[in-house]
Amino acid sequence: MPSEKVKSLNLEINWCKGCGICVAFCPKNVLDLENGKIVIKNLDSCIKCGLCELRCPDYAIWLGGE
Ligand code: SF4
Ligand code: SF4
Repeated sequence: MPSEKVKSLNLEINWCKGCGICVAFCPKNVLDLENGKIVIKNLDSCIKCGLCELRCPDYAIWLGGE
């Protein structure tokens, strides 16, 4: 189970180069690319697994504790 302390999914789209790795690795199809940048299309489905954060080479997506 994901930690209850993890509450938010954060993006810094200026750092996103649109590689699509996070889209491909997200097990819940939460993420998508729009105009070459990451977007959250389905936040309710996010299980806070952290795979997107782990796989992003540019630190553009991460889980927050607040
Ligand atoms: S934390 Fe997991 S479920 Fe949520 S967007 Fe990232 S990869 Fe997808
Ligand atoms: S893995 Fe990172 S750089 Fe690549 S599309 Fe996702 S957020 Fe953007």
